[in-house]
Amino acid sequence: MSENCTHDCSSCSANCSSKKPESLIKKPHKLSCIKKVIAVVSGKGGVGKSMTCSMLAASANAKGYDTAVMDADITGPSIPRMFGVKEHAKGSKEGILPVISKGGVKLMSMNVLLESEDDPVVWRGSLISGTVTQFWTDVIWGEVDYMFIDMPPGTGDVPLTVFQSLPIDGIIIVTTPQDLVGMIVGKAVKMANMMNVPILGIVENMSYLQCPDCGRKLSVFGESSVDALALEHSIPAVAKVPIDQNLTRFADCGQIEFLQNNYLSDFLSKVIKNLNK
Ligand code: ADP
Repeated sequence: MSENCTHDCSSCSANCSSKKPESLIKKPHKLSCIKKVIAVVSGKGGVGKSMTCSMLAASANAKGYDTAVMDADITGPSIPRMFGVKEHAKGSKEGILPVISKGGVKLMSMNVLLESEDDPVVWRGSLISGTVTQFWTDVIWGEVDYMFIDMPPGTGDVPLTVFQSLPIDGIIIVTTPQDLVGMIVGKAVKMANMMNVPILGIVENMSYLQCPDCGRKLSVFGESSVDALALEHSIPAVAKVPIDQNLTRFADCGQIEFLQNNYLSDFLSKVIKNLNK
C-alpha cells in the first residue's frame, strides 16, 4: 500500500496488494431501473431457448410484473417475430427506446434495429458483445421487475462478455432429451459457478408428445433425465414442456404472449420465489 493511500482505487495507478479488482459490470442507462435479470441459456441452437425465453416473459407479464426481453442472440434473433413486433426501435436524445409488444412486454433485439429482418449480421464476436452491452447501457428500459435475456447458444465469447458485463441474478438452462443433457448441464453448471451466478431452473423442452387420441405421453427424443440432473446439481426448479404444435403456431404468427396453455407458469412462480428469498 502506498504511503499516500486514499483508499480510492479508481483514481490510483499503484499496483498494490490491497487494490480491489475492478468490476466489469456496466451501469444500466440512467433512466432504467431493472430489478432482476434472468439469463436463458442453452448448449446449442434449435432446442427452444427463444421459445422458453418468450414463454417466461409472457408468463411474468401475465402475472402483472413489468417485463422486458433483451434478445442477446444477435446473429439469430427470433424474439420480435414471436411477439409479433414489426416496427423499428426509436431513438431519443437520451438513448434508444425499447419496442413494446401488444401485451406490454418491452423488447430490444438486433431485428428491431435492422432495416429488414432478413438482413444477416456478419460481425466479429467483439462487435456482437459490444452491441449486447449497449442494449444494457444505451436502452431506456424504464421500470422493469424481470428482464429475461435470450442468450446466444453455447459458452463462447459473447455469453462470457454478457455474464461479465451485466448483473445477472440467475440462469435458466434449456435442453432437450436428446441434447447430450448430462454434458450440457455440466458445462452450464461449471460456467455459472465460475461466474458466481446461481442456476434458477432447468427446462426440458420437447420433453414428450401427448397423443391426441389416447393421452399417452410419448418420449419421442428419449427418456427424460432432468429430474436426476437437477437433483445432482441442486437445481431448485424443473419444467418439462411437450412438443406442441400450438407453440410453433402461436410463435410463428407473433402471438406467443396470448397462448392459453403456458407450460412455464408454475415453474416461473417457483423461480421468482427462490430469487426473492
Ligand atoms: P433456439 O432459440 O434454441 O434456437 P427456438 O426457440 O428458436 O430455438 O426453437 C426452434 C424451433 O422449434 C422454432 O420453430 C420453435 O417454434 C420450435 N419449437 C420450440 N419449442 C417447441 C415445442 N415445445 N413444441 C413445438 N415446437 C417448438
